Amino acid sequence: MSTAVETIKERLTIVDVVSSYVQLDKSGRQFKARCPFHNEKTPSFYVSPDRNSFHCFGCNTSGDIFSFVEKIEGVAFVDALKLLADRAQVDLLQFRKGGVGSKDKSLYEVLEYATEFFSGKLQTSPEALQYLLSRGITQETIHEFQIGYAPDSWHQLETYLGSKGISTEHAEKGGMIVRKNEGTGFYDRFRGRVMFPIANSTGAVIGFSGRILPSIAECKETAKYVNSPETDLYKKSKVLFGYDKAKRAIAEQNTCIIVEGQMDLCMAHQAGTKNVVAVSGTALTFEHLRLIQRFTGTLIFCLDSDKAGIAALKRSAELAFAMQMEVRVIPLTHSKDPADLILSSPDEWIQATKKSVPLIEFLVELQTQDGLTEEYSKRISKEVVPLIRGIANSIEQAVAVRNVSEKLRIAEVSVWAAVKSAPERRESSVETEKKQVVSKDRLQSIQDLLLGAKAASSKDSQYLQESMDRIHAECGIVFEDSIPEDILSRFATEFEVGHGSEDEKKQQISIEALLEEYEKECIRTSIERIMEKIKKTGGGEEELKQVQALSIKLRGIRV
Ligand SMILES: [Zn+2]
Repeated sequence: MSTAVETIKERLTIVDVVSSYVQLDKSGRQFKARCPFHNEKTPSFYVSPDRNSFHCFGCNTSGDIFSFVEKIEGVAFVDALKLLADRAQVDLLQFRKGGVGSKDKSLYEVLEYATEFFSGKLQTSPEALQYLLSRGITQETIHEFQIGYAPDSWHQLETYLGSKGISTEHAEKGGMIVRKNEGTGFYDRFRGRVMFPIANSTGAVIGFSGRILPSIAECKETAKYVNSPETDLYKKSKVLFGYDKAKRAIAEQNTCIIVEGQMDLCMAHQAGTKNVVAVSGTALTFEHLRLIQRFTGTLIFCLDSDKAGIAALKRSAELAFAMQMEVRVIPLTHSKDPADLILSSPDEWIQATKKSVPLIEFLVELQTQDGLTEEYSKRISKEVVPLIRGIANSIEQAVAVRNVSEKLRIAEVSVWAAVKSAPERRESSVETEKKQVVSKDRLQSIQDLLLGAKAASSKDSQYLQESMDRIHAECGIVFEDSIPEDILSRFATEFEVGHGSEDEKKQQISIEALLEEYEKECIRTSIERIMEKIKKTGGGEEELKQVQALSIKLRGIRV
C-alpha cells in the first residue's frame, strides 16, 4: 500500500499546487513566475512538471509540493500534509495505524468546527443577522465569507467543541477559548460578536475577527474588534483578510485594492470588486506585501482619511516603495469608508476605484487643500519628500518629483535636491532581503549563463554572440569580453546543470528564455543609468526620450 505522501503526489501535480499561489507562465517545458520567496521583478522561479519540482535561481529554494506549501504557508510538514490531503481529497485517517484520539485532531479542525458553530448561531440570532443585513451585507455574502455569530455566553463554544471530540488544550491552542486567571477551567474568547473567519491563502480558516454587536457594546465596556491571538496557524503579520478570495482577481486585474476592515472587504466583493483585501487594524508588513507581489506590483489604498489612516498609509507605502511597488490611492470625498459608500451606491464605488491617483499626488493634494500657503512647502518637505526618497523604482521616483514640481511650481532640480538630501529611511527587512538577493547581480548572473551556453554549445555559439551584440548595441551597454578559460568552463557547467538539455529543441527554448531575460535586464539597467544621470544634471529632452523608448521596448518584451 502506498503512503499518504505518495497518494497525494499522484493526485496533485506541482503545477496544480504552485499555480494556486503564484501566477505561472509557460516557458518551454517549464513554467516560470516571480519567486514568492524572495523579492524580484523578473521571474527566476521555475516549475518543472517533468520532475514535479520547483527551483528558484534567485534564492536557490527548491523542492516538491510539500516543501512548497510548508514554505509558502509558513507551516510544519504535518500541516502541509493536511492541507494538501484536503485538497487531493485523501483521507489521512486511513493511513493512520491506530484510531484517532482527540489529540490527533489538527488545529484546522478546531477552527473548522468553530466556523460551523458560529455560522449556525448567526442564522438563529435575529439581532446579529439584522445587524449585518442593515449594514448592507446580503445572505449570499454571509455564506461566501462564512460570517457567523458568537453568542454572548461563556461556554457555548467550549461545550460544542468538546462534543466534537476537541480537547480543551487544542481549543486553547487554536485561540478559541481562554484559560481563567483564577481557579481552573476556560471560557469562550469571543462573546456577543459578529464573527468574520480569517483564512489562509488556500481558504482554510485559521482565525477570526469578531465585531461586537452594537446593543452589547452599549451595556459593557469592550473593544469594538477582537482578533484571534497568534497561534501556530494564525500569524497576523502574514495574513491578509480576503486574500484567498481575491488572489485570482488581483492577478487578472494586475492591481490590489487595500481596505481597512472586514465590512469594507465584504461589501467590496459584494459590489463586484474582487481584487480587494483588508489589513484589519495593522499596518502592512513585508510579508503582506510579498503575498500581494506574487500577483501584482500595484497597490491601491482606500483607507480612512483621518490622521491615523494617513499615518498607516504612509508606513505601508514606505515599505511598498522600497519593494519597487507602485502605490496609488482612491480618494473618498464624501463617505467615511468604502462600506458606507457601497451601501449608499455600489456604482459610485466602482467609479471611484477607477479614479485612483498616485500616492504622492494624493499627499501633495492633501497638504495643499487650503491653497498654496507658506506652510505647505514645509509640510511637503517633511511629509512627502522623504517618501519620494524611498521610491526604489527610478521611473516612479521621477514621476513623483515631476508631480511635486508641477504642483508647487518649483523647478524639478530643486525637488531632486530636496529628495537627495532627505534622510535615508528604512534599513529594515527589505534591505536585508535585498542584500541576500542581490548578492550576485541579476544582469551579471544571466550574462554568465549565456557565456556558459556559448562555451558549452559550439552550435549555438555564433547565434548567442550575435544576439548579445545586438542587445548591447540597442541598450548602449559596453560589454567586458575577456573572461578567463577556467571561469568560462564553470559558467558552462552552470548552464548545463540549470538549463541544458539532451533535446536540441528544449535547449533552444531555454536559450531563448535566457536571452529574453537578459534583454529585459539590460534595458532595465540602461534606464537606471540614464535616470541617475538625469538626477545629477537635471536632465534634458534627449535623455527622457531615451528612457521612454526603452520603457516601451521593455513593455513589448513583457507581453
Ligand atoms: Zn527565489
